[in-house]
Amino acid sequence: MSSLIDNYSRPEVPQHWPAARTVEVYREGDLRSQKQSQHHSAADMKTVAVCTTSFFATVLPVFASVLIPGIIHDSTYPPDLFFAQLLTGEHISSSNMAHSNEEREIFRFGAQMQNFVYLVGDHRTGECVVFDGGWDPQGIREIVRSAGMNLVAFIATHEHWDHIGRRALRGQTRVPGARDFVVEDGIPFFISEHAVDTAVMQAQIPHESIRPLKDGQVLQVGGFDLRFVLTQGHSLGSMVTLVAESPSKKNPDAMAENIMMLTGDTLFPGSCGRLDLKGSSVETMYHTLQKLRQYPDALEIWPGHGYSAAKSTIGQEKYRGLLRSMSKEEWIRRMG
Ligand SMILES: [Zn+2]
Repeated sequence: MSSLIDNYSRPEVPQHWPAARTVEVYREGDLRSQKQSQHHSAADMKTVAVCTTSFFATVLPVFASVLIPGIIHDSTYPPDLFFAQLLTGEHISSSNMAHSNEEREIFRFGAQMQNFVYLVGDHRTGECVVFDGGWDPQGIREIVRSAGMNLVAFIATHEHWDHIGRRALRGQTRVPGARDFVVEDGIPFFISEHAVDTAVMQAQIPHESIRPLKDGQVLQVGGFDLRFVLTQGHSLGSMVTLVAESPSKKNPDAMAENIMMLTGDTLFPGSCGRLDLKGSSVETMYHTLQKLRQYPDALEIWPGHGYSAAKSTIGQEKYRGLLRSMSKEEWIRRMG
């Protein structure tokens, strides 16, 4: 397992965010032992002050985020989970927010594409990552900032330009995305090891910012694990990401229960991404779908586009979507 923090030099914590060590004090359980002490030394008082700060640091962002559109509040999720689903043309990339005619054009295009951008983080540490943060980096940054979070990485569900951005080429407009975050914010870019070359060429991501992901690799964001599963079929670099609470230090062998799966263009409610593009394979997609069928029915899936519903579950897709039982021959006959 590797941690985001181990993998790159972390950008400075913004001034409005209390220092990370306040969170460490809270985590290590010092609060209880210090509170029980009858002798309030200078060190004790400092710890109490730090913990008070930690309380506000924890509670206020959660409270503030209630008012921000796109941020998902679900009482079944762990309270520390920060999760947002941002739709282009609605929460970001809205043409009335454009600063120039060129940007208005890009935003209009983004609205047609109906991309979902996701933010996943931990309220307690203030860290969050952006998945597929294309089209409107500034709009995404403003939502992250308003929620009191700090962006620490860009993760691509796959290499297509509407998810990571593209350079201006042969008369095509440049689409903002990963390059903007990597260059201007100094955060790393994570993508499947099978899509690195495409990402570099298409979106001009500096090589030194790229962190290739292997099948099964896990990254930590605060107290949450992101586990990447290679799901080729729509593209060579397609992955789904499972979000789970990290096993606690006290019980490191505990099985983490997955909270959700971000599916990119691998699986939409009722359909899947195109299978007629360079790097697509109808046959490989069949095996990917069989792999996804193994997950629990109750597991939520969150897709890369808003073509149909905003989310679904493995069970619903087994019942009426592409995860229903089907032979390989039938699949190929229908899709090939
Ligand atoms: Zn795609």
